[in-house]
Amino acid sequence: ARCVVAVDGPSGSGKSTVSRRLATALDGVYLDTGAMYRAVTWAVLQAGVDLQDPEAIAKIAQETELSIGTDPVAPHFFANGTNVDGPIRGPEVTGAVSAVAAVPAVRRLLVEQQRALIAGTVRIVVEGRDISSVVAPDADLKVYLTASAAARAQRRSAEDATDVAATQADLARRDRLDSSRATDPLRQADDAVEVDTTGMGIDEVVSHLLDLLNS
Ligand code: C5P
Repeated sequence: ARCVVAVDGPSGSGKSTVSRRLATALDGVYLDTGAMYRAVTWAVLQAGVDLQDPEAIAKIAQETELSIGTDPVAPHFFANGTNVDGPIRGPEVTGAVSAVAAVPAVRRLLVEQQRALIAGTVRIVVEGRDISSVVAPDADLKVYLTASAAARAQRRSAEDATDVAATQADLARRDRLDSSRATDPLRQADDAVEVDTTGMGIDEVVSHLLDLLNS
């Protein structure tokens, strides 16, 4: 049977790790929509476009050819033929991505690509900020992952070896921007199941989601 799982939540909630592990457990594929916004942001920065100029940003987004890997074990991303796996996780892209993701034309373009990708799959776990509310409101399971601000900062800085306090401040900044933008803000969909992962291990979260899917 077809199966679409939507996983939304703020950064550091465990979304990526949990989504990839769940996709593997389901023998399905994985779509990291955040990586799509990051890859477009990389192209915008490469082009040297003014981040205050939504029309110029939208134009770059339209011209950028994205290749989005969906293998949950090793997802690789390309923009205009260049592998961007490294740069899209760097501080420049992370600092600019919320501004690029706030441009309505960019969101329209990427949401359309995301829906087409989902439509071409049988089992898929999709992670992002607006999957339950906008991209796939008819998903079989809709999850909103949360964790305390401290737990999120702890996890993120363990991943990229940055200072916990600086990471917590950056996560708070992005949450604020992502939750307050006019188009498709980060929010918990009314019918999404909230899972607070503070103090939970990955295996625990994944088996909880598998239980929800089978219940
Ligand atoms: O999940 P990740 O931290 O990689 O997402 C990067 C940024 O992309 C978020 O801070 C948000 O601004 C944007 N995003 C979005 N909608 C999504 C996924 C990500 O606006 N579905």
